[in-house]
Amino acid sequence: MTSTTPGAERAGAAIDVRDLHKSFGDNEVLRGIDVDVPDGQVVCVIGPSGSGKSTLLRCVNLLETPTSGQIFVEGAEITDPDADVDALRSRIGMVFQQFNLFPHMTVLRNLTIAQEKVRRRSRAEAVEVARRNLAKVGLAERADAYPAHLSGGQQQRVAIARALSMDPDMMLFDEPTSALDPELVGDVLAVMKDLATEGMTMMVVTHEMGFAREVGDKLVFMDGGVIVEEGDPRAVLADPQHERTKAFLSKVL
Ligand code: ADP
Ligand code: MG
Repeated sequence: MTSTTPGAERAGAAIDVRDLHKSFGDNEVLRGIDVDVPDGQVVCVIGPSGSGKSTLLRCVNLLETPTSGQIFVEGAEITDPDADVDALRSRIGMVFQQFNLFPHMTVLRNLTIAQEKVRRRSRAEAVEVARRNLAKVGLAERADAYPAHLSGGQQQRVAIARALSMDPDMMLFDEPTSALDPELVGDVLAVMKDLATEGMTMMVVTHEMGFAREVGDKLVFMDGGVIVEEGDPRAVLADPQHERTKAFLSKVL
């Protein structure tokens, strides 16, 4: 699968990461990451704690500044010093393990505030978009609730609806279900699966191997700041090729 024109085979990539390095002081956390997410596909990233998964996602929307390497979003290099970082970042929705909702605002206000301030939407339009996305995550009835009155799973679905309300072209999820009680995980994964079915481009760091197997188009196993193995999720999970992948999967499966 080599190409004479570097990167030509990735022409349709929504996210294209090339030789990404990231150090914090002397700690080189990402040591040459190459990965691409084709438009409309779901790439799941697994690996032990500390392997650099969060740092990779955070570099993709420039919450961290890469030490070297390139990242392209829909063909535009976001690591270019002249890139319009705000414009590019606004096309990428991000959902974290901790939901980061504003506790003193209702669910509806949590969904409208950035639409008004960043997207410059009128209150009426922002409310309409918010209600549509709350319905999508099954929480139309909870618009007037405060986050503390929702379960963790509901809060995470609000966080997803909030990200969607900004009309992102793609979504990054960093262990979105890891902070949830087990019985609440399924509803969040169901919302993510619906999004994938609708064709949303997604990069998902997760320990949910069932989700990776069922929804992922590609599975990437990271360890020590490198991609050790990647491929079709069913193949990687059923028949991992590398010892480190085998060792990791034997602990989590
Ligand atoms: P993962 O998400 O796979 O658990 P992370 O990307 O969070 O891994 O972390 C990888 C390594 O980078 C860890 O050793 C962590 O301590 C370090 N690290 C992450 N963020 C920072 C930071 N802001 N400053 C210093 N070190 C960091
Ligand atoms: Mg992490």
